[in-house]
Amino acid sequence: MSRQNKKNSKTKLNKYSWLVDFGYQQSYNLFPKMRLRRLRKSSAIRDLFQETRLSPKDLVLPLFIQEGIDSNVEIDAMPGIFRFSPKTVIQEIEECVNTKICAVILFGLPKKKDSFGRRSYDNKGVVQQTIKSIRDNFGDKIVIITDVCLCQYTSHGHCGIIYGNQIDNDKTIDTLAKTALSHAEAGADIVAPSAMMDGQVRKIRDLLDKNSCTNTLIMGYSAKQASSFFSPFRDAAHSKPGFGDRKTYQMDYSNPREASREIKSDIEEGADVLMIKPALSNLDLIYEAKINTLHPIAAYSVSGEYSMIKAAAMNQWIDEDQAITESLTAIKRAGANIIISYYAKRMAEILNSK
Ligand SMILES: [Zn+2]
Repeated sequence: MSRQNKKNSKTKLNKYSWLVDFGYQQSYNLFPKMRLRRLRKSSAIRDLFQETRLSPKDLVLPLFIQEGIDSNVEIDAMPGIFRFSPKTVIQEIEECVNTKICAVILFGLPKKKDSFGRRSYDNKGVVQQTIKSIRDNFGDKIVIITDVCLCQYTSHGHCGIIYGNQIDNDKTIDTLAKTALSHAEAGADIVAPSAMMDGQVRKIRDLLDKNSCTNTLIMGYSAKQASSFFSPFRDAAHSKPGFGDRKTYQMDYSNPREASREIKSDIEEGADVLMIKPALSNLDLIYEAKINTLHPIAAYSVSGEYSMIKAAAMNQWIDEDQAITESLTAIKRAGANIIISYYAKRMAEILNSK
């Protein structure tokens, strides 16, 4: 090779220095022989080189538990998803255990609501009773996560306590902490504050520690946005705000830098797990949280994500199983360690059948 050619070749390769770093110099020079389709030539080869693999153990099933019902009630905006009674939910959890799902997250719907959401920390409340019953039936076979918020318990449907026209941040976090403690004392493994109040994680950690619940984990709903994809959940959990919206506490989905500050503040306050919600519209935030923190990352594939796929599938516009698998794989590929999904059970069945 002439001196000039050598120089040209070197300059060209410098542009592709990452190829050289990874030992690809020869392949680069022999570029025409590179055939990526060799890696896709059969189902067995594709399975062997699959980069992202879902497992039932990645999945968490959300469950709505309603006080005062005897049989399951299907949710209009989420066909195939039910509200359970504290008794009937046991059968559902049995099915989760059988499909190798190892965690559920509980949302309570009380019979009575008031403006302060007092039933949220009642030791005989619907969530507290259900936790005890799951523990009695399954021991440590299933991880019990509980949502800690007030919107299902307040008569006005907001996630906090209202004074005047304002949500009072500091009074709300006192009640959230009492609620989290009542869940921990009933036997919850992980409490998950979702009200997006400032200081909620620290307040909960302090109260748990003062009451000998140092082993209870906190999963912060760290970056939770005011999202239209939550709408079917409000039907499911009877938690539509009676007035206004949630934009003074839930985040603006346009603001990734603010999301990073929310995540950082949950880490500083003592969160053990960070959650991003919704999932599919926030794959960038999931990825950033994964590379910029050392905490486990949870992603919540929300009710709207479920209902969109379900509605399209019911109209035969989309293959439901393929759409579930693709969207949950994308969430894991972005960096989620665990995925909360209303499709958790179906996804586990698909994986178990392979
Ligand atoms: Zn709420």
